[in-house]
Amino acid sequence: MGIVLKTFDLTKTYRQTRAVDNACMTVSEGDIYGFVGENGSGKTTIIRLISGLIFADSGSYELFGVKSTDPKIVEARRKIGAIVESPSIYPNMTAIDNVKLQSKLLGVDGDEQFYKDALKEVGLDADVLGKKKAGDFSLGMRQRLAIAMALVGKPQFIMLDEPMNGLDPAGIVEIRELILKLNRENKITFLISSHILTELALVATKYGIISKGRIVEEITAKQLHEKCGKYVIVKTDNNQKLIELVSVLKGAIAIEDGDSVKISGDVQLTELLKVISNSDLNVEKVNCEETSFEQYYLSIIGGKK
Ligand code: ATP
Repeated sequence: MGIVLKTFDLTKTYRQTRAVDNACMTVSEGDIYGFVGENGSGKTTIIRLISGLIFADSGSYELFGVKSTDPKIVEARRKIGAIVESPSIYPNMTAIDNVKLQSKLLGVDGDEQFYKDALKEVGLDADVLGKKKAGDFSLGMRQRLAIAMALVGKPQFIMLDEPMNGLDPAGIVEIRELILKLNRENKITFLISSHILTELALVATKYGIISKGRIVEEITAKQLHEKCGKYVIVKTDNNQKLIELVSVLKGAIAIEDGDSVKISGDVQLTELLKVISNSDLNVEKVNCEETSFEQYYLSIIGGKK
């Protein structure tokens, strides 16, 4: 699988604020890269750097294998679409006129059907919308219009900055479904920044966790799923004995966790309970638990936020 974006120690400072600090991240072809971080962690700044809206103080990046220092980076950027902060649409124009204007700006020729199709792709019907101005659209519709405007440039990679922000539940579902459809059917790679971990978890194939300008971890959804697996907390009158007993079960990992024992790994609950009930341990508590993405995220960024 090809690499769409790779950054090398990307750094950007605003006066005293180091917005992006030696950030190293990799987005591969086909990824839906969930970019997660607290307020002010540097997500927007990285998206702006890659879009060419601002320049890095040091470090570099490659887009589709083209170095950011290579003049060809301008061409490589034509393969990307970015919606940074709020969608930049003209509120006094209709949806189709916004799409036409964007096509002109991108130097893309198209007929009426081409513009209508771009809108249709995001679930907007130009005929039904008629003369309705974009300023009168719901936020979800404006977000979809902005994606339609990005689509006329036939991007292979789209970066969306907080696309779920401010949307109602129905709007969130629409944007999520749209991202999944464009990724699956149009083979578009996505980078999506968001605070809403549960929402990202429904679409992301890989995560980049950013804190104070640094990428503290990159992890695939599969790896995250394995790390966030289920576990059992057992409290008995003898932790050490319980750990010894559990160690005979293939695949089980038992560690002391406060006054209890945490048992994880590839272990059947019935097998585990059998071992415990056949022993002379006094069992006070058995709890089946699961590490959530939120807990994992907090453990990675130090649990401070
Ligand atoms: P949010 O989720 O709140 O949008 P973010 O992760 O996108 O946050 P950035 O907007 O990239 O974070 O900001 C990173 C840091 O850089 C913040 O401390 C911010 O105040 C600072 N910053 C960003 N843009 C500028 C600017 N133009 N001038 C000065 N400081 C800036």
